[in-house]
Amino acid sequence: MRPIRLAIVGLGKIARDQHLPAIAATPGIALAAIASRNATLDGVAHFDTLEALLAEAPEIEAVALCTPPQGRRAQAALALAAGKHVLLEKPPGATVSEIAPLVDAAREAGLTLFATWHSRFAPAVEPARDFLAVHEPHAVEIAWKEDVRVWHPGQDWIFEPGGLGVFDPGINALSILTRILPRPLFLTGATLAFPENRAAPIAAELDFTDAAGLPIHAVFDFLQTGPQSWDIAIDSAGGRLLLSSGGARLTRDGAVLVDEKEAEYAGIYRHFVDLIGRGACDVDLAPLGHVADAFMLGRRTKAAPFSW
Ligand code: NAP
Repeated sequence: MRPIRLAIVGLGKIARDQHLPAIAATPGIALAAIASRNATLDGVAHFDTLEALLAEAPEIEAVALCTPPQGRRAQAALALAAGKHVLLEKPPGATVSEIAPLVDAAREAGLTLFATWHSRFAPAVEPARDFLAVHEPHAVEIAWKEDVRVWHPGQDWIFEPGGLGVFDPGINALSILTRILPRPLFLTGATLAFPENRAAPIAAELDFTDAAGLPIHAVFDFLQTGPQSWDIAIDSAGGRLLLSSGGARLTRDGAVLVDEKEAEYAGIYRHFVDLIGRGACDVDLAPLGHVADAFMLGRRTKAAPFSW
């Protein structure tokens, strides 16, 4: 069968690092165009904006929105109205409630809307979920600490309203947690540290629980130099699980259960092709809801001014 003709919108860091190789490696989908104001790709049709792409390239069937979250809802609405399937980078938008109208639009038009959570495609996530379905968790400790200057060099949008600050990576931990725990969790307290010159937090500490009283503590830090940590430790009735390297590695009481090369975006594109084939949507707003709760409930403290 002819592959789905896809356009990338916003050819920035994640599009180049992950989307391009994953698309190239996925049967059933092919990169046919780029819409980006300041970036082009040799040998691929280029448009300055999504609007120009929609007007001039009717053969495009799907778009991957790799732009910052603040503008993504408007782009998704335009693309769906033009009859395109839509893949949203994480987080799916700048607010929780702006996504429901997109889901309605996609369903009414018989199109696919896929709100991706790339960390859920890490190889040890499903094994951790399966383990916790039969071994009751007793306590969860999350350390999600990375260097914003390495992973988001010069990206001022990340510290603007809707950019989420340290929750941009932190939401990846929440996307894993909401997938692997046996019951829904909810926030009980939070502290968010805002640099004096920025509108989004650079560090956060969060406490959650669930209906059974499971204690969950998370520390998010955007100023981690040296080794980075993307770790979730879970004491359970079946021993101590450590999900590390962002979900690529899983140990139980120190014994390795999973240790695989990450291939998150290949999983994302396989799933996108499958969703389009089935005429289905995949949109889970739970991780974004927890971030919104942190902004509602969190105590705000001041941190030192931030510069790149
Ligand atoms: P980025 O490097 O800033 O790329 C985003 C691209 O979107 C820009 O290059 C820009 O291309 C375009 N754009 C359109 N409107 C924009 C605006 N108002 N401000 C800035 N850029 C705008 O960001 P990224 O790291 O690729 O992140 C994009 C999304 O992917 C974010 O939601 C992020 O959470 C997610 N993500 C990032 C990473 C990572 O490690 N960086 C990992 C996973 C997911 P033109 O100027 O050419 O239009």
